[in-house]
Amino acid sequence: MKDKKKDIRALTKEQLQEFFVSQGDKSFRGTQVYEWLWNKAAHSFDDMTNISKETRQMLKDNFVINHIRVDRMQRSSDGTIKNAVKLHDTLTVESVLIPTKSRTTACVSSQVGCSLDCQFCATAKLKRMRNLNPDEIYDQVVAIDNESRLYFDRPLSNIVFMGMGEPLMNYNNVMKAIEKITSPEGLGMSPKRITVSTSGVPKMIKKLADDEAKIKLAVSLHSARNEVRTQIMPFNETFPLEDLREALEYWYSKTRSRITYEYIVWKDINDTREDAQALVRFCKYVPCKVNLIEYNPIDDGDFQQAPSQATDMYQDMLERNGITVTVRRSRGKDIDAACGQLANKSA
Ligand code: SAH
Repeated sequence: MKDKKKDIRALTKEQLQEFFVSQGDKSFRGTQVYEWLWNKAAHSFDDMTNISKETRQMLKDNFVINHIRVDRMQRSSDGTIKNAVKLHDTLTVESVLIPTKSRTTACVSSQVGCSLDCQFCATAKLKRMRNLNPDEIYDQVVAIDNESRLYFDRPLSNIVFMGMGEPLMNYNNVMKAIEKITSPEGLGMSPKRITVSTSGVPKMIKKLADDEAKIKLAVSLHSARNEVRTQIMPFNETFPLEDLREALEYWYSKTRSRITYEYIVWKDINDTREDAQALVRFCKYVPCKVNLIEYNPIDDGDFQQAPSQATDMYQDMLERNGITVTVRRSRGKDIDAACGQLANKSA
């Protein structure tokens, strides 16, 4: 039965080597197969021309090779590309290529749907269907790297885990994917060019600090007042700002890496001076910068971007307190590729 067979790309190199030894073969055979799977991106066992026919048959009897397929690619008028990515079990996730003058950034998904319940996010409406495997995350990055070379004549330079899903709720697989992305056998990218964005899961932020991943951390804060944050991000009830603060202090004490807070200012939700003051106070706990991001409306209209005076008020107050702040314009809105719009239409 096909579905009894294991996904061979879920095995580490060591596990593959052990498998071959257990079959009475050499561990070197495992290395060869591993290279076919990862360095040469083989899609079939028959591509593995330096492996004997018998061994290939034995592999076919035991394993499948799962690959993602870019089902649909859309290009925005601003150059942003969105890939609808079909997984082996027909579920779909999305990833985005964001080009600027000097960089190409891949925005990748970590889950099908999402474990969390942010009220303003299209992905949250899908609920969590499953976690992505490490190879499914890695393949999204490779697909975007290829597109970057093809359309922009340069390799991918940065990765953000800001697609669908909460990366820290799929911790092990995200870390395995990052290992592969950064290893010389994979893409050899520097971890400093990878940002993991979280809605703020305190325990997992601490684990990330303990694991010394050397990646950058972004936190989707959106409010520094518990009563407001719980209203828009209900899981804040379980992981309140005090716990988040403690985890971030721990992160900084271990990594010395400054945190980025992502923040949207909404009309009648968090647009008062009191809200901005609370953010300034929160920013003093740990070295950080703030990205004020534009709200991308999702279909149900409960949230509206605050007028620019409110954003200016935030910017001014943060700057007067010596906190770096950038106001970020959204990209790829015309193809629903902007933050929080993923799966808006393909669900
Ligand atoms: N779960 C992770 C990563 C995915 S969301 C996290 O929350 O960080 C990526 C970013 O898009 C987050 O900062 C999120 O708050 C933001 N976002 C979600 N919905 C949005 C929307 N409708 N408009 C603009 N940004 C949105």
